[in-house]
Amino acid sequence: MVRFATLALFALPWVFLHGQTVKLSVDATDAPRRLFHVHSTMPAKAGPMTLLYPEWIPGEHGPTGPIANVVGLRVESGGKRIPWKRDAVNMFAFHIDVPAGTSTIDVAFDFISPPESDGFTSGASATTELAVINFNQLLLYPEGAQPDGLQYQATLKAPDGWRYGTALPIARESGNQIEFQPASMTTLIDSPVSMGAHYRTFELGTAQGAPHYLHVAADSDRALEVSPEVQGHFKQLVKEADALFGAHHYRSYHFLYTLSDHVAHFGLEHHESSDDRTGERTLIKPDSLRASGYLLPHEFVHSWNGKYRRPAGLAPGGKDGKYDAPMKGELLWVYEGLTNYLGEVLAPRSGLWNPEDYRESLAATAAELDNEYGRTWRPLEDTAVAAQVLYEAGGDYETLRRSTDFYPEGTLIWLEVDATIRQLSNGAKSLDDFCRAFHGGTNSGPAMNTYEFADVVAGLNAVQPYDWAGFLNARLKSTEARAPLGGIEKAGWKLVYDGVRSEFWKAVEEERKVANLMYSIGIVVKEDGTIGDVRYGGPAQKAGVTPAVKLIAVNGRQYTPVALREAVDRKRPADLLVKNGEFYQTFHVDYSGGERYPHLVREEGKPDLLSKIIAAKVH
Ligand SMILES: [Zn+2]
Repeated sequence: MVRFATLALFALPWVFLHGQTVKLSVDATDAPRRLFHVHSTMPAKAGPMTLLYPEWIPGEHGPTGPIANVVGLRVESGGKRIPWKRDAVNMFAFHIDVPAGTSTIDVAFDFISPPESDGFTSGASATTELAVINFNQLLLYPEGAQPDGLQYQATLKAPDGWRYGTALPIARESGNQIEFQPASMTTLIDSPVSMGAHYRTFELGTAQGAPHYLHVAADSDRALEVSPEVQGHFKQLVKEADALFGAHHYRSYHFLYTLSDHVAHFGLEHHESSDDRTGERTLIKPDSLRASGYLLPHEFVHSWNGKYRRPAGLAPGGKDGKYDAPMKGELLWVYEGLTNYLGEVLAPRSGLWNPEDYRESLAATAAELDNEYGRTWRPLEDTAVAAQVLYEAGGDYETLRRSTDFYPEGTLIWLEVDATIRQLSNGAKSLDDFCRAFHGGTNSGPAMNTYEFADVVAGLNAVQPYDWAGFLNARLKSTEARAPLGGIEKAGWKLVYDGVRSEFWKAVEEERKVANLMYSIGIVVKEDGTIGDVRYGGPAQKAGVTPAVKLIAVNGRQYTPVALREAVDRKRPADLLVKNGEFYQTFHVDYSGGERYPHLVREEGKPDLLSKIIAAKVH
């Protein structure tokens, strides 16, 4: 991407801003109409000045700042309009000429929060009942300012009667007006606020002096009726993470859990909080919680792995951070891959999953990667380097594309690292020791300590000497057709397939509203009959079926998930009638193996390390 090249010229005049304060007021009373009104007052000095909108968003690993939704921009000084001009190359930069005798400017704009849409924080974030506020969407900052040095004094006006939660320390509140304590731009952007008409905060206990909270905003009061048992799992999660890392890097920790069927579903990490969003009934429907049981553990782990310890390439600008410089994703298999592994391990350790759920999830991950044609052309390393484009890629032909595999394949690789350490040390050491040394240290507030590939290798060698560089490079550069299943095998289990659709598989199918027959006939079908994807090289794809067509009938009978499963269970070739645009086509699929779903079974005679790995450490 081409960058605005004059940054260095403008950097110097803004040094004086260090220690000065920007006043930012956000009026969120129109949140139910998906509009946010922003007004800020910032120090300025006569002459040319450039205002930037945050472009590269921490945790999203890409240039995802939603600049197209910034509207109604007005810059003024003493009530007089100052014309602005957008940079011709950098769409996130606005140039102004500050008149002589001016010491502050007023910058106002509106932000349109999108309607129902996927994506991360720039996806749907508000309903008539709730909203999530991410400050990176609601501020412009002077180019050249150091995000750690630039102080923001923020206020937020919520819709009447709405309650809220955030990690951002509060100075005072009255009615629906919240005044935050002054915070650096870094901290402000790192501290989203969730709010809503149906809102509850649960205390999850303290760990080494730091309190933890679960703030739940939902589209209904019913969705907030969280059982003591479910609350207990999240309390256990706090204890297990503390036992794993041994120290934390936050003053307090806040899960901002947004439950709605009409916002984007994802999790985004911060030092002292996470922005977690799933369906409305996740906390009152056991299968729904089961399908996303790894989510809060994953985002919590990021406070250590991702925020405190961060690949240098994902921290452009170093300690101060920078929102206008490209990120480099090549170590995302550590940032996201290790987090994926640890999040999944913490789910059974905290009771959010039972051991069987964990194994079924691991089997699904192994099967997904072991049946992926795309691994013969794209090495894992490239999925990390190309993350910023792959996040935006469609979900069709995923087994040919091989998308953001540094998540699931991270799970397999870090399991293999864990099992290898346990084997070589005869059970004396494990990956937990690496995490304690690499991510723990001493308790502190938010801090960042960057690393490179060599630091990861050195950290592993300090726990257990081995050719870790050789091991990791082989995994990262491989174009082998088969997935690295060595961790599962070393841990005493193996991947098998049979016709049994497990409770976990059903829960995930129901949550995603799909029928997943990827490992038999080779298709995933959405609720409305659309074929979400085909397995590249699988029976349906070989017969000519493509993703994104509509499945109309199976063997002459109208499509339903049951009709499709029964046709596959006949163990005879099947005819699929599909609608592709305006055209109807029938494909004869030559498959007669019946339903097939992946599972893990014990490899008798080998020690069961997997059960040791997922056992609770705190009782
Ligand atoms: Zn993550």
